[in-house]
Amino acid sequence: MPAARPPVPVQTLTLGRSVQGRPITAVEFGDPSAERKLVVVGCIHGNEPAGIAIARQLERLTPPAGTDVWVIENLNPDGVAANTRQNAGGVDLNRNFPYGWQPLESPGALMYSGPDSLSEPETKLAVDFLDKVRPTVSIWYHQHLDLVDLSGGDASLEQRYAAMVGLKTEQLQRYPGSVTSWENHAFPGSTAFVVELPAGSLSDAAANTYAAAALKIL
Ligand SMILES: [Zn+2]
Repeated sequence: MPAARPPVPVQTLTLGRSVQGRPITAVEFGDPSAERKLVVVGCIHGNEPAGIAIARQLERLTPPAGTDVWVIENLNPDGVAANTRQNAGGVDLNRNFPYGWQPLESPGALMYSGPDSLSEPETKLAVDFLDKVRPTVSIWYHQHLDLVDLSGGDASLEQRYAAMVGLKTEQLQRYPGSVTSWENHAFPGSTAFVVELPAGSLSDAAANTYAAAALKIL
């Protein structure tokens, strides 16, 4: 059987650039006027890049009718290039969002939250983008705790996703300044959650399973 042809994107937007000037893009598929909107971000912690393969698989799948799908392969390209959790400014981007932001740790530390909330170009462009799209569901991939974090929002949706990909669910500590907490607060009725992938990289088949499940829960 011939492989299904990948869908043609509605548009590719350059959202902005990282600290070191690498472009950060979002690709839209499906129906822009649909009310059900999915945002998938393959990577925010640079040393946890396995979800980028899921984002790329998602770009090969045709979204169900009546849905709008946005894919950001990588929100932290400088961190991926350097194999660091943080961006090139040494900031943990997932502690730099505005909801409950607190000064955490100091420059160079693992969870340094930055000099202020939204001090980093990567978090600023993410907030601008998410504010415009107002996703129904957002999925943020991390590594490597092997679980779906009940991150707020609709727990039954998070549990369904976990069941489809064969991960357990757990509620991890909710850190100040995380993007999922910000989204779940800023967009009532929506669900933003963290998927902690296994260590290492994913096979194409595994990445496809994670991507297809994202479309199913929408
Ligand atoms: Zn992480």
